[in-house]
Amino acid sequence: MASTYVAGGDVEYGRYGNPTWSAFEQALGDLEGGRALAFASGLAAVATVLDLVGHGTKVVAPRHAYNGSVMQLADLESRGRITAELVDVTDTDAVVAACEGASLVWLESPTNPALEVADIPPIVAAAHAAGAYVVVDNTFATPLLQQPLSLEADIVVHSATKFIAGHSDVLLGALVTKDAELFDVLKKRRDMIGAVPGPFETWLALRGLRTLHVRLERAQANAKELVDRLTQHPAVAEVRYPGFGAIVSIVLEGGALAADLLTHKTTVWVHATSLGGVESTFERRRRWKVEPATIPDGLVRMSVGIEDVNDLWDDLAAVLDQLVAERPGS
Ligand SMILES: *Cc1c(COP(=O)(O)O)cnc(C)c1O
Repeated sequence: MASTYVAGGDVEYGRYGNPTWSAFEQALGDLEGGRALAFASGLAAVATVLDLVGHGTKVVAPRHAYNGSVMQLADLESRGRITAELVDVTDTDAVVAACEGASLVWLESPTNPALEVADIPPIVAAAHAAGAYVVVDNTFATPLLQQPLSLEADIVVHSATKFIAGHSDVLLGALVTKDAELFDVLKKRRDMIGAVPGPFETWLALRGLRTLHVRLERAQANAKELVDRLTQHPAVAEVRYPGFGAIVSIVLEGGALAADLLTHKTTVWVHATSLGGVESTFERRRRWKVEPATIPDGLVRMSVGIEDVNDLWDDLAAVLDQLVAERPGS
């Protein structure tokens, strides 16, 4: 918990390093295949990368990325720092074309909350050919399901708040890279800006990391089972699931009203933002005014937890059945 250290040792002051950060960074770095740096939050890590983008350069980013990341890009653009080109990450040809003249290609895959998947290797090849760096926000997949550095991406971003810490009790972010020069640049910026985590937060995240494989296996199995059942339910117009992970988005037949009813009437599922905890949480994303209008009004993003899948289904089905029974004309 020390903020300062006896002079002359490895670390002099708590903004530059901490043995608990190092233990967490070592573990996450090993999982992603690079060297990690912990940050105060996912968005602190995002801001640290975007701060390095050159004046007047172009950044390519997904139109449906995490809204906090998109807002940072919009803020930089409004102050004349960059131009942001927002793309549909599922349209690889369009993303490849957008790489021309870019200094940074920001990817998030799967995206939050649309669950679109980017084909990372051809995008990385096009970005590198254009002289651009590639960043991948790997929060949804976690290093157990996708390792962007092994696909030659330059930097991985994590909101460790989510699956990595895994218990909805920590705010934490991380950057990982295997490029030694880039690592030094990012470390220097963290030292300078000071968006550093507390030792206790990194300790909790390290403890969470020990069960990541077990939590994710169970949550993913639950998600797949729920996807099967949700797909067959008449109250559900669309199920979005990339085939892996524990986040599922559904669009309800009854739009925003039905979605609000669902999120307010369940008792096992908790109505809350954020995701990746052991407990199942969900929310209608467009309840946030900043969520893009291209996200359907009745879309509910579901973070599937590790509870008994029948408890989860019964809780959902009770409300979904009611939505069908009360539908006009039924
Ligand atoms: C939550 C989230 C972030 C932001 O992380 P915080 O820890 O909340 O600052 C970034 N990217 C994705 C994909 C997220 O889900």
